[in-house]
Amino acid sequence: MQRILGSVRFLGLVGLLAMVNATLANSEEPQVSRVLTQHEQEALTPEEVSQLLRTGNQRFMSGTLTSRDHSAQVRDAAGGQFPKAIVLSCVDSRVPVEDVFDLGIGDIFVARVAGNFENVDSLGSMEFATKISGAKLILVLGHEDCGAVKAAIDRAQLGNITAMLENIKPAVEALSSYKGDQTSANPEFVHLVAEKNIRLSMNDIRKRSPILKGMETQGQIKIVGALYDMKTGRVEFLE
Ligand SMILES: [Zn+2]
Repeated sequence: MQRILGSVRFLGLVGLLAMVNATLANSEEPQVSRVLTQHEQEALTPEEVSQLLRTGNQRFMSGTLTSRDHSAQVRDAAGGQFPKAIVLSCVDSRVPVEDVFDLGIGDIFVARVAGNFENVDSLGSMEFATKISGAKLILVLGHEDCGAVKAAIDRAQLGNITAMLENIKPAVEALSSYKGDQTSANPEFVHLVAEKNIRLSMNDIRKRSPILKGMETQGQIKIVGALYDMKTGRVEFLE
């Protein structure tokens, strides 16, 4: 009984401290109420943007997200947008792209398709984001336990899904020499295909868009890939 009472007292103290901390954090840190300006966007290098995404993900993992006044940001962004990056992500509901990088309104463009592969529409969106709108980074963001990757591995067939999965098939075929269970029941194989799919998407972006390839060669943008692990919240950037 005494032990239970002790636990209650301990949890009570921890809860109280958490509340005090939250109150202090709220009162000491002003909420972000403005969005990135054109001048700020222009001053950023592709490497700096890459670094900002990494440190943002560290804040997401540690639960120290930036406090934002979304209503004020919406009003501030109404005059124009100057995002620092475009992310090509899967549609998975467990991958909230802005959140995993601790970013808000006006910070990034996000293109989404199940299996985060590029196509003519997303390539056009990337060219718009970088060449026209000044973004400095293209990030292909895959994730662990991806349903689209698993379906491609298992050669699922249904309606338009069949044609969509053709885009992920090259990643599965690239691993045909994998020694082991080549089904979606094998997490290691699913991980390897997801990673290969990201790398192939990055290569295809360079191959199919002379504009983006040229901007990368001239150092105006960087094209990078990363894999999000929803168990830890960590975004692992591929080298
Ligand atoms: Zn997915």
